[in-house]
Amino acid sequence: MWRLKIKIWGDIMTADITALPQVRGTYKLKEPLSRHTWLNVGGPADVMFMPADEADLQEFIRQKNPQTDVFVIGGGSNLLVRDSGIAGVVIKLSDKNFAQCQIDGSRLYCGAGCSNFALKNIVSANGLGGLEFLCSIPGTLGGAMRSNAGCFGSDMSKVLVSARVIDGNGRVFEVANEDFHFAYRYSDFPADWIVLEVCLSFEKRDVDVVRAQIAQNEEYRRAHQPQGIKTAGSTFKNPEGTAAWKLIKEAGGDTFVFGKAKMSAVHCNFLHNEGTSASDVENLCRAVQQAVKQKSGIDLETEVKIVGREQ
Ligand SMILES: Cc1cc2nc3c(=O)[nH]c(=O)nc-3n(C[C@H](O)[C@H](O)[C@H](O)COP(=O)(O)OP(=O)(O)OC[C@H]3O[C@@H](n4cnc5c(N)ncnc54)[C@H](O)[C@@H]3O)c2cc1C
Repeated sequence: MWRLKIKIWGDIMTADITALPQVRGTYKLKEPLSRHTWLNVGGPADVMFMPADEADLQEFIRQKNPQTDVFVIGGGSNLLVRDSGIAGVVIKLSDKNFAQCQIDGSRLYCGAGCSNFALKNIVSANGLGGLEFLCSIPGTLGGAMRSNAGCFGSDMSKVLVSARVIDGNGRVFEVANEDFHFAYRYSDFPADWIVLEVCLSFEKRDVDVVRAQIAQNEEYRRAHQPQGIKTAGSTFKNPEGTAAWKLIKEAGGDTFVFGKAKMSAVHCNFLHNEGTSASDVENLCRAVQQAVKQKSGIDLETEVKIVGREQ
């Protein structure tokens, strides 16, 4: 254990969090999470920890005070972090050691910190058929596994063979696909586990065919989804048998504005933050849910994960 000294805004400050394990990675004190989320909102993490590698992360987990809360963030593309931030330690697997990828036969092993956009280069260069859908989803493979991310008729449950995870006691082990009990945008994943690496299956295909499929997917997004805005993708899950955007439109939720948060005019299940607070964004979500409930009797469930201290 050591007394943490951290440089912020040019001053050396000694954190009052004195019981953090000594690590080789980086601690950042009061790191604004708005810098790490696609919605561009969110107060600070008490501490952000970027481990140097797996052994460093394992040592941190084993040595940390069991009372210290831990939350792992990926690319922040599916997160609404509240203005009061996140208590405890937010772990980000941003070191290149967590982004290594390796092909072995018909399997692709990818570090959880690898971004899906980086994956695109590997998938297209090697003709890894079946993984094209992943290449257009923002975020990391860890986040995609956790949320069973999907699009264009596929999702992680269809390509994941197994994942290597670390639990809250620092134990590293392999978990098979079926043990995650995947469902639509859902995995049965204990809160204190962290994905370290995923093993994906693919079908070797002609490189041009794979490239064409990726390009077609990207074209579809350009034509049907808002581009270049601060958003977290689909705000609400599609209820059984219908589409969230339809319900939102029928309930008039597409016209709601909270501060500078509104639903996108291009696709009204995409929230558009034009420069406002997390509380405006959350209030917009709640108002849309209420309107849909009133109009159709359906409870819209957020696909975006709302996290952080409640004020
Ligand atoms: C423009 C846009 C389009 C999108 N389109 C789609 C789409 O087509 N389909 C789709 O499914 N989603 C889509 N999304 C949502 C989002 O990109 C996915 O859910 C993505 O998989 C989230 O990954 P992330 O790394 O950003 O996770 P984050 O948003 O950082 O975190 C999401 C969850 O995963 C957990 N998590 C992250 N990393 C790990 C890890 N290593 N171990 C354990 N848990 C972890 C976090 O704790 C959190 O609970 C879109 C988002 C945007 C902004």
